[in-house]
Amino acid sequence: MSTMPAVFAGHGSPMNAIEDSPVSRAWRELGRTLPRPKSILCISAHWETEGISATAAERPETIHDFGGFPQELHEMLYPAHGSVALAKRAAALLSPDVVALDPRRGLDHGAWSVLAALYPEADVPVVQLSLDMTRSGPEHLALAARLRPLREEGTLVLATGNVVHNLGFYDPRRREPYDWAARFDAKVKALICANDLATLADYDGLGPDAELAIPSPEHYLPLLYVLAQRKEEEKLAFFNEHVENAMSMTSVIVG
Ligand code: ZN
Repeated sequence: MSTMPAVFAGHGSPMNAIEDSPVSRAWRELGRTLPRPKSILCISAHWETEGISATAAERPETIHDFGGFPQELHEMLYPAHGSVALAKRAAALLSPDVVALDPRRGLDHGAWSVLAALYPEADVPVVQLSLDMTRSGPEHLALAARLRPLREEGTLVLATGNVVHNLGFYDPRRREPYDWAARFDAKVKALICANDLATLADYDGLGPDAELAIPSPEHYLPLLYVLAQRKEEEKLAFFNEHVENAMSMTSVIVG
């Protein structure tokens, strides 16, 4: 079996799940071009925990963890199977760190808004791994690196968040990026190209723009989970390189 790529997708608004946009078109295209995975391990900005958890339901429910969107979005379902086997495999790879297997937790919109475009038939089993918010950036990076064997086992590591995400600055009338948002996005891309993961993981040290781009780390941390999957000299590509307002959709494929 060939090594699976790993993907970080900027997810932005939940509306990307139902709107035909350049972003959702790129997701659909990606679903058609990636090697077909046996299963998916998803890390999303929208599952923050103390300690690490993994979904372990046979049929994880679709969580509508947002408000004020059209009924169509609130009614959308993503009926993929879970995979207790994959949840246990991830837990084994992360041992001796403890992963709590959660049979009740479903898939949040950070996961299913992207998955619905990548695999619209919902025919690839999905497990979500939570973000343990007690850990630092470097600790997340080290944890993520231990998941690398999954790529050899047919599992797609899919992380979703946003490189720049500041809803406090969100202005629906404004399309052009704030200067600090564009600068921070460019800086992160340059560090990714230089494979400087240590600097990326220590995001508080990324200069004054980081305070605005990462007011809280949950949308940024998933990026580290994908960058950690990269083997020496392995190829890397960006897609959805688009910064609007106070949000960057910049996305990365490793492998
Ligand atoms: Zn989000």
